[in-house]
Order: sequence, then C-alpha cells, then structure tokens
Amino acid sequence: MESDEVNKDLFRDLVSAFYFIKNDVMDIEILARAFELRILKATGYELNFSQCVKCRKKISMSNNIDSILYGPICKECEKLNSIYISNPTYNTLKFLNNFGMDKINRIIVSQSSKLELYKILSFIISQNYTRKPKSLEMFNYLREYNDQ
Ligand SMILES: [Zn+2]
Repeated sequence: MESDEVNKDLFRDLVSAFYFIKNDVMDIEILARAFELRILKATGYELNFSQCVKCRKKISMSNNIDSILYGPICKECEKLNSIYISNPTYNTLKFLNNFGMDKINRIIVSQSSKLELYKILSFIISQNYTRKPKSLEMFNYLREYNDQ
C-alpha cells in the first residue's frame, strides 16, 4: 500500500532525526525544516522546485514563492501575493526537499537563511493545516534547550 510506504519513509526519517539529535551532529533548526518538508510531502503537499508553479516552465532558481500555490514563480509570471526568497535560501530549500535525511547533516546555512526558511515553511504549514502540528514545535523546544 502506498500509505504504508509513506509511513515507512517518515519513520526512517524520524529515526535519522533522533540519531542526529542524540549525537549532536546536525543543526536542530535545519533538521526541523527538513522534517517539515517531509511531513508536507507525506501529507500530499510536496513542494516542487524544478518548475514554475504557474506556467510549469522548468526553472533552477526563483526569488518568489507563490502564497496560494506554494511553489516557485519564474521571472515572467505574475508575482503578486508571493513571498520573497533569496538565492541561497532557495538552494537550501531545494536541497532539503530533494535529498534524504542521511545526506543533509553536513549542510551549512546562514542565520538569515534560517530565518527565511522558518518564515516560508511556517506560512505554508499554517495555511495547509488548520493547526500547526505540535510535533513540529518540539524542535523549537529542543533548540532552546540546546542553546542554553
Ligand atoms: Zn512561470
């Protein structure tokens, strides 16, 4: 069954996440963002960074995420009601979305990109789910704990 596969994938990602936390080998904030992307994917809201969300043209970079269709917009399409995203943040988001949890622990992300990622994913999550899943807040508590 397809949903079994999704559950298996999520479970495997969760195990990786706990491994990273336990061994302190990864930035918890980035781990949280990667997990948010996994949850979006598992619940049918997978983001696609290879094409424009409006005209479907292939793209490799975008500075606008559509706030209704939740995807990147190309240079030619209308950008009204979009969220700004910088080039490094776009690349990070694409990387976190496209690669497995086992590949992402070495990624280095600037403080400003972390904030951008947080804003964009929080927006998409809060729009897609009536209530932000509590499990996602867990990572914020972990981060606060680690920062002490
Ligand atoms: Zn377009």
